[in-house]
Amino acid sequence: MLNEVIFIKIKGVEIPIEIKRFDNSRGLRLMGTGYNIRVTTTRFISKTKIKEILKPYREKIHSLFMLGIQEERLEQEKKDNLELYAYVEGFQHELVYKKYQGPVISPVLGNRQIIISMKEELNYDNVYKELDKFYTNMAKRYLPLYFENSLSCFSCQTQPELRIKKMLRQWGNCKKSVPVITLNSHLVKLPSELINYIVFHELAHLVEANHGKEFYEIIEKRYPNRKKLDKKLKLWSFVLKDNYIEEYPGEKSD
Ligand SMILES: [Zn+2]
Repeated sequence: MLNEVIFIKIKGVEIPIEIKRFDNSRGLRLMGTGYNIRVTTTRFISKTKIKEILKPYREKIHSLFMLGIQEERLEQEKKDNLELYAYVEGFQHELVYKKYQGPVISPVLGNRQIIISMKEELNYDNVYKELDKFYTNMAKRYLPLYFENSLSCFSCQTQPELRIKKMLRQWGNCKKSVPVITLNSHLVKLPSELINYIVFHELAHLVEANHGKEFYEIIEKRYPNRKKLDKKLKLWSFVLKDNYIEEYPGEKSD
C-alpha cells in the first residue's frame, strides 16, 4: 500500500505528515517528530478533513517537527564526534579502535594513544561509556596524589576525605562540615598545573567556605597568577563533551 502523505506549511516549512489508517482507530492521533510525524485515523476520513482537524495544532506540529530535526542533528554530531581524541593530563591522545577483543580499554600512554577494544559495534554511546570508565580509573590512580600534594599546604585538624566521581557541572566541591572533597573524575584530562590549581581551590574551602576576599588571598598566596589560570581553565572546557563546565569556580556563584 502506498503511503498517504499530506503537507502542511507552517512558518515557511512544508511539513510532511503521514496518514496511517486503521479500522479500529477512533478520531485522530498525532505522533512522531521531525520527518516522521504521522497521524493514525479511520479509513473513512478525507485528507482535506484531516488538514482541517489539524489546523488548531499548527504550533504543536511545528515544535514536533523541530524537535525531530534537532534530535537528528544531535545524532549526526555524535557520529561526527567519533574521531577522535581523548586528553590525559593535557596531552592529546589518539583513540585507536580495535574490534572483537572483548570490552576492555587500555591506555597506551607512551604512544599518545588510548586503545579501545570491544566486541560490540562502536558508536558514540559505548565508546564514551568506556572512556568514562577509563577516566574514572585514571582519576582513582592519580587524583589522590594531587590531593596529598596540595593537602600538605594546609594544616587540617581533621583529615578530609577524598571522593572521586563524574560530575556534570563542577570540577570539584568541598563540604567543610564533614569534611569531604569531591573531585570530578574528568579532571585527569586537564594539564597537571590546572589539576593542582583546582584541588588547591577545593582544599582552600576547608578554611574559607565562600568565594570572598579572604578566600582569594589564600589562593593568590600560592597562585599569584590565578586569573591567568582561570582563563586557561575556560579554554580547556572543551574536553568535557557532554558535561560542560562554563566557569570556574562553579560550585557557588561569587
Ligand atoms: Zn570554590
